[in-house]
Amino acid sequence: MQGKPVVSLVVPFYNEGATIEMFFDAITSAIDNIDAVEFEIVCIDDGSKDDTLARLLAVSRSDSRVRVIELSRNFGKEAALTAGLDAAIGDAVIPMDADLQDPPELLVQMIDRWRQGADVVLARRTDRHGDSMAKRGTANLFYRIHNRVSHVEIPSNVGDFRLMNRASVDALKRLPERQRFMKGMFAWIGFRTEVVDYMRPARASGTSKFTGWKLWNFALEGFTSFSSVPLRIWTYIGLCGTLLTLSYLAFIVIRTIIYGIDVPGYASLLVSILFLGSLQLLSIGILGEYIGRIYMESKQRPLYVVRQTYGDNHES
Ligand code: UDP
Ligand code: MG
Repeated sequence: MQGKPVVSLVVPFYNEGATIEMFFDAITSAIDNIDAVEFEIVCIDDGSKDDTLARLLAVSRSDSRVRVIELSRNFGKEAALTAGLDAAIGDAVIPMDADLQDPPELLVQMIDRWRQGADVVLARRTDRHGDSMAKRGTANLFYRIHNRVSHVEIPSNVGDFRLMNRASVDALKRLPERQRFMKGMFAWIGFRTEVVDYMRPARASGTSKFTGWKLWNFALEGFTSFSSVPLRIWTYIGLCGTLLTLSYLAFIVIRTIIYGIDVPGYASLLVSILFLGSLQLLSIGILGEYIGRIYMESKQRPLYVVRQTYGDNHES
């Protein structure tokens, strides 16, 4: 008990067997140089199907700072992170990716800023050459639209890599929602926030666990968790449609009065029916998105299930 503050690193692992050795080499050499604080490393095995768990356990046997939480299946990164945040006991908590895309060298700076009084220290990537053009483009688009539409501004080019002090972690834990859009939730809690910049490297090995479809769903989560604009927009579209239809009606009546009845065209009729029909389907779809979310929330299921934890009082 030297009374040093404790910093928890929270790392989700999903099929990262090939990266683990590299990850711990990099991490330990970075944190061994930081004397001002103690570290604990909370590793969450998010239902990996490879040898991730076995390798994590091997590391935790030789390094008492490493704790392992095994989830009962793959719950996804957001849930894995939540499990880690719940288990972390540090005075500050830093979520990190296992693929070394969050450079451990940055820890020194982040911890310094925290000790100088920041509550939250964001790591912002100045360039994303590690990511593909398409991913960068869609990410930019997402932030632009999201921040237009939602009340909570998500800082762009900031991921989950950040330092949070105990108060902000506790605030985060009080957000009860099941559908977790961490980026938005991190932004929602506020606190005195500072930023450090870094270059985002490419993945150390393996491939991204996020496919295009997963990312699309992720973005949808973001919009619907933090904004009801997609829902409200239909009121306005409906209003415009009604006004247009009314003026068209007036036009037809006047034309009939002046020119008499002529053979009406099916084309315009069909077009307007189809147009309104598809508009309705779309808005029903959007309603469905929100109702689905209400349904998920109402079940009040736990966010994750822990199969076993290792490391605190290890058998050794
Ligand atoms: N991850 C996880 N569960 C999942 C998907 C990913 O715990 O279902 C972890 C993964 O092991 C990594 C982090 O989340 O530590 C980030 O994943 P990845 O590098 O694939 O995402 P990207 O950097 O492409 O956004
Ligand atoms: Mg990555």
